[in-house]
Amino acid sequence: MEDLKYQIDLLTALNERLLNSEKMYRHIAECSGTLFMYFDYRTSPAKVDLVGPWDDMVGEKIANHPYDESYMLNLLLDEDQDKFRIHMLELEREGLETDTVDVRSRNKRYWLSCFANVTYDDDKRPIEKIISIKDITRIKMNSEELEYLAFYDSLTGVYNRNYFVRKFRDMCELADSEKVSVEIMFVDIDDFKKINDSIGLLFGDELVQEFGQYLKGFNSDDVLVGRFGSDVFVIAIFNPCGQRSSDVIYHKILERLRHPFMLTNKTEIMFTVSCGVAEYPDAGRTALEVIKNAEIVLYKAKEKGKNGIQYFELDILNKFIRNISIEKQLKEAIETESFQLYYQPQYNAEDGKLRGAEALLRWPDPDGEGFITSPGEFIPIAEKNGAIIPIGSYVIKEALRTFSDWRNKYHIPMILSINISALQLERENFVESISNAININGISPESIELEITESAIINNFEDVIDKIKTLRGLGMRVSLDDFGTGYSSLSYLKQLPIDTIKIDRSFIETAVKDDSSGIIYESVIELSKKLGFETVAEGVETKEQFNYLREKNIDIVQGFLLGRPVGKVEFEKLLIRQIP
Ligand code: C2E
Ligand code: MG
Ligand code: MG
Repeated sequence: MEDLKYQIDLLTALNERLLNSEKMYRHIAECSGTLFMYFDYRTSPAKVDLVGPWDDMVGEKIANHPYDESYMLNLLLDEDQDKFRIHMLELEREGLETDTVDVRSRNKRYWLSCFANVTYDDDKRPIEKIISIKDITRIKMNSEELEYLAFYDSLTGVYNRNYFVRKFRDMCELADSEKVSVEIMFVDIDDFKKINDSIGLLFGDELVQEFGQYLKGFNSDDVLVGRFGSDVFVIAIFNPCGQRSSDVIYHKILERLRHPFMLTNKTEIMFTVSCGVAEYPDAGRTALEVIKNAEIVLYKAKEKGKNGIQYFELDILNKFIRNISIEKQLKEAIETESFQLYYQPQYNAEDGKLRGAEALLRWPDPDGEGFITSPGEFIPIAEKNGAIIPIGSYVIKEALRTFSDWRNKYHIPMILSINISALQLERENFVESISNAININGISPESIELEITESAIINNFEDVIDKIKTLRGLGMRVSLDDFGTGYSSLSYLKQLPIDTIKIDRSFIETAVKDDSSGIIYESVIELSKKLGFETVAEGVETKEQFNYLREKNIDIVQGFLLGRPVGKVEFEKLLIRQIP
């Protein structure tokens, strides 16, 4: 009896220990965040036990469900069930352990990573199987996001720069083997900065997004769309032909741009684009070279006035390379002040007396006799990159010093004309600095004439007009240079507070030869006189032109016939001859 009681106590104690230990293991499993499905094949049908935080995952009390092998399947999204089933079959065939399989749960769309382990008896029949299931939703989301960020532009959904370049490279490689070509087209919104300034950055982004999503529609097996920068898109076309070409896509884009883009704040925005196109392998030996060249011709399209398409041309590339080299040399020349001023005389047409001189910049070649290049080439480059500011300061300083020197030496009344670029004029302190320089040199402002081009006035009309008024208020003269080459609207002439008009030299040649050009020339002189301006004819090269101009009552003549631009010392000889 005692013995039996002892046995029962022992069994009870063992049982309790077992229960405790099962409780402990269940608890550990519960906390592990992993679900386990245990199959015991020693009974028939197999006994299935679920361990772990199943309730949380499934969203309902699983204890209420009868479960068997199909239970797990039913938890999964339909499209992922096969994947899971095949995986399990493979497991049974291969034995022991599986790799993990990632599937999605039906209810909350969890990502589950499933892993299984089977034990077999000596006859290779399964005894037990444990499927462990982990919630990897967060990891999946992060990696999906990372993957997205790695390939796509988050604003527009088109390919990002890195991925586009990679895919474009692959396309070029394939094109090599198939002996076909790949086009790349840059598409850049015109005046995007202005649009941004007017609608604000956020709506600017929205516009880019809308436009990007439109362009994304061109994406296909053979067409890639990407975004390289704020408003710069790229489209690559494999083996362009027929409907699939930059030309056709460009025209489709134009068609779309005829209608406004609507923003969420109900603003309607219209804009234009400029495009640059280059083709691999014609426009470059490598994918990257072709991309670079397409970008270069895009800038050419912008330069030509925007809202257009420019195809790659070798000349454009060569000019670009030359400009870069000039830019580099200009930088050095500015540091070492390696410039010179030449002076070209201007004469009164009527009595042939010296009226004054125009200061013209020269860039001598330190290694040779001549010049590195003409101002016609380097001034526009300097205007584009801002180098004209220090160069212009040098011109003003040097011209005024020389002029003051001459005045002290020769006492000849004359006017000095100095070319002023738009960028200089836009500087806030321009008026102050030039008038200071004039005062320091003891020059009377009435003897200084500033030559300004039409484009400088038009681009910033009100501000420039104000400045011209101030300059003239201080006594300086202002002349409109290269008249006839720019906008040349006669109607705005009357509003200009200027003293002189210089008719561009390109007109004089035809004016003497061709009657209708002559009529235009004469009416410009007449109009200018009527508005009270002094009129200068530029580029007088022949006696015939000179006589013609005199006959038409031009005021002032300037040109090679009467005197080429010459250095300071040479010009002094001319001044000495003027001394009565
Ligand atoms: P521009 O102000 O219209 O200057 C007149 C240009 O015509 C000068 O060219 C002059 O050498 C040239 N020229 C004068 N007479 C004749 C002629 O009879 N026949 C021909 N074929 N040409 C003649 P240059 O010195 O090469 O200067 C070209 C342009 O560069 C100037 O045109 C001006 O716009 C700009 N430039 C020159 N110096 C300066 C400067 O110091 N500052 C700025 N901002 N621009 C300058
Ligand atoms: Mg000039
Ligand atoms: Mg001129």
